[in-house]
Amino acid sequence: MEDIPVDVGLIYEGERIRKSSMYVDLAGPKSKGAELLLVVPPDEVEDGKVEVVGPDVDQMEEGGRYPFGILIKVAGEKLEEDLEGVFERKLHYFCNYIQGFMHLNSRDIIWCRISKDAAKKGLKLYHVGRVLVNLYKSEFDVIEKIQVTFYTDEKAVDEHIARAREVYEKRDARASAIKDEDVDVFYSCLLCQSFAPTHVCAITPSRSGGCGAVTWFEGRAAVKVDPSGPIGEIPKGEVIDPVKGEYSGINEYVREKSNGTIERVYLHSLFDYPHTSCGCFEAIAFYIPEVDGIGIVHRDFHGVTPFGIPFSTMAGQVGGGVQSQGFLGISIAYLRSPKFLQGDGGWRRIVWMPSQLKERVRSAIPQEMYDLIATENEAQDLDTLRKFLEEKQHPVLERLKAEEAKEKAEEAPEEEQPAATMPELTVPVQAGAGAPVEFTITFKNAKIYAEKIIIRRKE
Ligand code: SF4
Ligand code: ZN
Repeated sequence: MEDIPVDVGLIYEGERIRKSSMYVDLAGPKSKGAELLLVVPPDEVEDGKVEVVGPDVDQMEEGGRYPFGILIKVAGEKLEEDLEGVFERKLHYFCNYIQGFMHLNSRDIIWCRISKDAAKKGLKLYHVGRVLVNLYKSEFDVIEKIQVTFYTDEKAVDEHIARAREVYEKRDARASAIKDEDVDVFYSCLLCQSFAPTHVCAITPSRSGGCGAVTWFEGRAAVKVDPSGPIGEIPKGEVIDPVKGEYSGINEYVREKSNGTIERVYLHSLFDYPHTSCGCFEAIAFYIPEVDGIGIVHRDFHGVTPFGIPFSTMAGQVGGGVQSQGFLGISIAYLRSPKFLQGDGGWRRIVWMPSQLKERVRSAIPQEMYDLIATENEAQDLDTLRKFLEEKQHPVLERLKAEEAKEKAEEAPEEEQPAATMPELTVPVQAGAGAPVEFTITFKNAKIYAEKIIIRRKE
């Protein structure tokens, strides 16, 4: 590779650049940005070209924060549009190979940082672009031509973000045209195992990867061009639970690829066997037991959830490739899935989400539910949330009241405790020790409470 002032290699992947050692921040929560990779016809790519629209690092002020866009155009005979998301996701990994350059998240929530050391050595965006050109070409034979453009000029970044969002929408809409039951094979992504070793993303038509970058179509395209790559096929197997989204094929695959750590996975529920969460999910769905509802918070929201904690704190507890009861890392596209959390009641169970996100996915929310979902403007904590839900008569309250009534009953003296209802139970009884007359007692709609059931073999 030509002269790049810093080292490049896998060992820098986990490098974190803290605020104290940062030279500049690019995009990120307090600014804006987006990354986009497009497959285009060969005559629209000037192979190897790297362009920076706006100031490069040497023209940036130390400690500054700049809007930031990345546009990569690739061309190649075997390339198809469906590969865009998968290649785009690779940006995260390739950028992080560069010493002193940090890349977080994906799509329009990226956050990059350049370290003081790297800036001192003379690292410029131009060099980052050269590295990307080389890494893409050496990892993917199918990429014949590649051109990289960085935007740091605010107006250019704004235009870039708008274009990128249109493309994301188009990709997500395409994916939502088919459902899990329409296909025989699902896909898996193991990219995030580099930092969450037991994490296996199961990618189905109704569920894209947590980072939002890999849809079922993109999984299919990736397997075609790179069969031994991080994206693989999952045979669907038997449908175990069509509502919660449990498939024998996914269970077997995940068991193997997580080294036996994860046994079962529900695609569309955050209870019992929720999908694992790695760390780069775009949003978190979280259970709020106090109202028996589900909240959603996305990475871009900087306020606090009704729990009093922000996204970042919650993300720290949820990620790492484990199954967290009542918490689930999801992509924004999943909110538009027709199977969105259907195992838990779908949109009828959603009680809170940031106003910006609510607006963004407005078309996916059933009309009758839209006004019943609180945002940070109506509910800042559990009390205000409950009040809001009561005012709006949110459907979760019916469940909640039934639950509370049950709990109250359970606090009552033992003999009054109904815990299970059985439509019919037949018990054969022997009457007396003398003549063996057999009775049958049938309980109809009886409520039975038992602290213990003892079953003994008949002597
Ligand atoms: Fe792949 Fe899932 Fe990680 Fe996205 S979040 S890169 S789909 S493993
Ligand atoms: Zn991840």
